Amino acid sequence: MWQDNLQDTIVAISTAPGEGGIGIVRLSGKEALTVAGKIFLSPDKKKPAQFKSYTIHYGKIVDQYKVIDEVILTVMRGPKSYTRQDVVEINCHGGMLPLRQILDLTLKHGCRLACPGEFTKRAFLNGRLDLAQAEAVIDIIRAKTDSALKISLAQLSGKLSFQINKIRQELLGILVSLEASIDFPEEGIPEQDLTKTSLRLTAIDNQLNALLSSALGGRVLRDGLHAVICGKPNVGKSSLLNALLKKERSIVTPVAGTTRDTIEEVIDIKGIPVRIVDTAGILKPRNLIEQKAVKLARGQMSLADLIIVLFDSSRKLDQKDLKLIKAVKNKKVIAVINKIDLKARIEKDEITKVFPKVVRLAAKSGKNLNFLEDAIYDFVYQGKLAGPESMLVSNLRHIQALRDAQKLISQARVILADKLPLELVSQNLKDACVDLDKILGKDFSADLLARIFADFCIGK
Ligand code: GDP
Repeated sequence: MWQDNLQDTIVAISTAPGEGGIGIVRLSGKEALTVAGKIFLSPDKKKPAQFKSYTIHYGKIVDQYKVIDEVILTVMRGPKSYTRQDVVEINCHGGMLPLRQILDLTLKHGCRLACPGEFTKRAFLNGRLDLAQAEAVIDIIRAKTDSALKISLAQLSGKLSFQINKIRQELLGILVSLEASIDFPEEGIPEQDLTKTSLRLTAIDNQLNALLSSALGGRVLRDGLHAVICGKPNVGKSSLLNALLKKERSIVTPVAGTTRDTIEEVIDIKGIPVRIVDTAGILKPRNLIEQKAVKLARGQMSLADLIIVLFDSSRKLDQKDLKLIKAVKNKKVIAVINKIDLKARIEKDEITKVFPKVVRLAAKSGKNLNFLEDAIYDFVYQGKLAGPESMLVSNLRHIQALRDAQKLISQARVILADKLPLELVSQNLKDACVDLDKILGKDFSADLLARIFADFCIGK
């Protein structure tokens, strides 16, 4: 693929579009210094090819005799650079015109416009980063909360890769001894060795479990917790959403069934990005619009990580409430008894006996709202995790690969216990290794790379 041609010298505007104090044009490739030499004029007439690595220089960008901008130029020679190639960064004034003109000039002198994420892709293809680390780069750029940033930084520093490599090495060790027994069947495999292998596989299974047990938290911190607020009309869903947002966002009115559609907001709750959806009441649709809204609400509920189901403390439970309880009782739910400022009429035992987590609050005044925030936080961290520091896995692709590897290892344990042919155990372990390799990018396809880097911005 032409995008993978590492021989091209690529260029891009690396700063965000629009006006800014400074803007950066970045070049990478074997001609980076030569191209820079054709457009950069330093006061002492030195060329960038003469500059030492990791030095910065004042000068002008010129198109023949026309000065385009006053700039600072940085030289980072490969292999000690982001892409492991020669990299030049030109800091110019941050307007679109100087940036555009400098970019055009480099293109005129032989550079090619970089594809999205192509600098990072080169860092990966040239072995500076593994794939998990490269993916962390875009997560850092996109991080919405401190916690999400912490996880991505840990991933970039190689913490996840280290764990995966450790498990992979352990698997390879087991494979070597298994293969030896398979190659020399006449010597057989002593019973104690089989027990030892089984124990080693259990240890690997436990390590994969530990990584996966933090995956919900990690994924939520990265992509947001998909939470849905539901309840019959008038229980206070919009009021609750508004209280959480601390600003008016959806229509709050005493008329039943006014939330005709679903409304989604992302709220930072104790460092967790919560994508919270206020659904139209689960009511009998009276017309087409309501039918659509209810369908949408049901769809949201089936996708949700967490359902926040509301009841009105000032009213007795009715058929609609009971129907809702039945619909959500086996899902991940926090039940909320709202309007506790009013005289209580609700049979609250009917709720507490079904839902393990029940919060009593008044959405209108915000009373006890922090109890709901605490409950959401506990749901994500599941009470047993120390916080984002203990979470290493957040990317769905990694979670899937870890699950696949774990399944294969569990199967291998069963095969071993059932004394089936060792070749089968060995094949499962090899396949598990392939799954782990996918995370690190030891085994990748052009398709996979295209999918991952398409998410990046140009210039990264
Ligand atoms: P939705 O249909 O479930 O979205 O309910 P709304 O949020 O529109 O609220 C319906 C009515 O209940 C409005 O008049 C709100 O002001 C009122 N309400 C909501 N929460 C509370 C509360 O905690 N206490 C009291 N007294 N009224 C509330």
